[in-house]
Amino acid sequence: MYNVTEVTEKLASNQKINYDRVLKKMIEKWEQAEIRPTILLHSCCAPCSTYTLEYLTEYADVTIYFANSNIHPRSEYQRRAIVQEKFVQDFNEKTGKEVGFLEAPYEPSQFIKIVQENNLSEEPEGGKRCSSCFQMRLDIVAEKAQELGYDYFGSALTLSPKKNSQLINEIGIDIQKFYKTNYLPGDFKKNNGYKRSIELCKEYDVYRQCYCGCLFAAQKQGVDLKQVNREAASFLSDREV
Ligand code: SF4
Ligand code: SF4
Repeated sequence: MYNVTEVTEKLASNQKINYDRVLKKMIEKWEQAEIRPTILLHSCCAPCSTYTLEYLTEYADVTIYFANSNIHPRSEYQRRAIVQEKFVQDFNEKTGKEVGFLEAPYEPSQFIKIVQENNLSEEPEGGKRCSSCFQMRLDIVAEKAQELGYDYFGSALTLSPKKNSQLINEIGIDIQKFYKTNYLPGDFKKNNGYKRSIELCKEYDVYRQCYCGCLFAAQKQGVDLKQVNREAASFLSDREV
């Protein structure tokens, strides 16, 4: 299966890599070889997965992996997982595609341990805590992709304009060295991907959260977590009726 380094090695080392172009080169290779690869794609809530799935499912068989022990509180985690799974179902119904959905165990203590051991609680959003958070989640996705025999593992995170896509791609490329699966590069905000995700969220009536996910960023941003918990609990209890 084609590896991202086959494309990036040909670029000058001082060149900023356009990972959208790298993915397009890879897709060209799949098409030339008449391959339709399998991808295990990390997503931390439905919005970033919308356009990313619309794009990738043209060329590959994709399963969403909801692996997000960074999300706090638990009720909000559960709400985002349910909304993500529902989006996958609705997307399949509407498009005739067969996107899969898998969920990793919710183990918030693992994320808290990483933050505490590395003194990352006071980091600003976009700082070192986020690098560790990307690393933790991409590593979990790579491990699962290897276990289940997926050709590629990747993340929909690069759709968000708030996320450092260069860093996410560099972490993914680094992680693939330890697994028998390949990192799927990308920068899904390109080609008007972010704009299209907003349209798709409206079309599918997808919930858009007001903070990235962790307790630390929410506190810095002044998010009322009690209110978040109340709204998430009400969403969950409505579903049980
Ligand atoms: S980056 Fe933000 S909007 Fe995108 S999936 Fe993650 S939490 Fe949701
Ligand atoms: S702000 Fe988002 S990416 Fe950064 S550590 Fe918190 S949950 Fe993870």
